[in-house]
Amino acid sequence: MTSSAATAARPEPAHEVELLTAGMRLRGTSLYLDATQATGLAFVSHAHSDHAARHQRVLATEATLRLLAHRVGKLPSSLAIPYHQPFTLDGIEMELVPAGHVLGSAQIRMTYKERCIGYTGDLNTAAALTAEPAGIAFCEVLVIESTFGLPKYRFPPREETYQAIRSFARESLDAGATPVFFGYTLGKSQEAMKLLSDGGFPVAVHASIADMADHYIALGCPLPHRRFDGAMRPGEALIFPMHLTRSRALDKIGAAKTAVLTGWALDPGTRYRYGTDAAFPLSDHADFDGLLSYVEKTGARKVLTVHGFAKELAACLRDRGYDAQPLMTPRQLELF
Ligand SMILES: [Zn+2]
Repeated sequence: MTSSAATAARPEPAHEVELLTAGMRLRGTSLYLDATQATGLAFVSHAHSDHAARHQRVLATEATLRLLAHRVGKLPSSLAIPYHQPFTLDGIEMELVPAGHVLGSAQIRMTYKERCIGYTGDLNTAAALTAEPAGIAFCEVLVIESTFGLPKYRFPPREETYQAIRSFARESLDAGATPVFFGYTLGKSQEAMKLLSDGGFPVAVHASIADMADHYIALGCPLPHRRFDGAMRPGEALIFPMHLTRSRALDKIGAAKTAVLTGWALDPGTRYRYGTDAAFPLSDHADFDGLLSYVEKTGARKVLTVHGFAKELAACLRDRGYDAQPLMTPRQLELF
């Protein structure tokens, strides 16, 4: 028998969630989870653009639906689901639980054929300023994101990072320079707005960030700010999207000190990669310890890992006695 014949003969494990071309799907059902291509029915955990396809029917929180419509236009059909209110659709019992990632982000618990499956979406287990605190999706089988699924990714206490960011703003202004922070347009930027304005700094923000902030405000999350008009006012901090570190608009504001806000700041050299003066590890994802302790709290014994360091996190979980595997695309059947 050749090695490829041996591969073909080995059956693929039938996980409760399968990975298809359009994305993950609850096996045996038509329910997709954060599919990256348009599908008939999808749960959308939050409104980051890598989760924003135009599905025919969308299940999400009210905040996610609002932010998603801002990104992809009016959705054909959507159902706004409040947290912690179980409901049944197409034979699947479901419940949304806050994920702590960005405003409106949700995990989902699904009970299908008497098996309870949890899916975290992007998860942040540390309390943040502008997202609902994460809850726990108690389940038997857990599908968990693995963005920071390596032991070297351990974030300092969040308050410490807030203080470091505020100190950077104060020192920059004292030196006669505008503090400029770069973060994702949705989520990170709003948290930066909040922590800076709470620290007494007036904040100007790029128009794309102001658009998102307006939705936050409408959803009950106050974020004092001014829409950046090309010029800074005395004492202000500026927040710009991550991809605009080289924007020509920044050449016109005079002296500036720049900093990027990302969990990857734990990697040495991050500020050089972004070309900024500083990098602060403000993350909207759980760190390694956060992921491990979260798995334990859910009560799951079987864990499927997705995104980021999925293989590595699954190996760490197996070392701790879990039935854990990365959820990968099915192997192609090899026919010699
Ligand atoms: Zn996200």
